[in-house]
Amino acid sequence: MRTFIRSTVYHARIALEERSFRVNTMDADNRGLLITCPKCGQRNRLKYEALKQPFRCGECETELRAPGNPVDVKSDLVFDALISRSALPVLVDFWAPWCGPCKMVAPEVRKVANETAGQLLVAKVNTEEVPSLGSHYRITAIPTMVLFSNGLEVARQAGAMAAPAIRKFIERGQLNRK
Ligand SMILES: [Zn+2]
Repeated sequence: MRTFIRSTVYHARIALEERSFRVNTMDADNRGLLITCPKCGQRNRLKYEALKQPFRCGECETELRAPGNPVDVKSDLVFDALISRSALPVLVDFWAPWCGPCKMVAPEVRKVANETAGQLLVAKVNTEEVPSLGSHYRITAIPTMVLFSNGLEVARQAGAMAAPAIRKFIERGQLNRK
């Protein structure tokens, strides 16, 4: 009996870990990020303007941490809202599914998103899925990283980068900021 209980708890924990592992991107709409409360499962919208402020679940008041995962941006509307309203600088990784170097960059971008949670928002744009964004921002090579601050582009660089190079790129971009 005791073994049974222990193994049930164990399996429940594994299931939970698998679930949180699978959620490696976050949803976003034209007003903010959509964050699911880990405690009660309630969906919360964290407004772009309020990204620097502490945030609690509307249902159970659990403090929700600033996003440490890249945000998948799937439309022009959401992209424009995010860039123009975000209280935090935004690093955008323009990528495509057929691009080999993009696949190598993806875990590096995730690493940076995790380290800079609360100071920087990391977004990903699949240029196959939203080609209008690629052409609007004149993305001629992928992967390309673009850093935005207060709605303006402050830096960009094409080509694969490992996490330390991405961090340096962000630092340089922050210096360009007015
Ligand atoms: Zn909650």
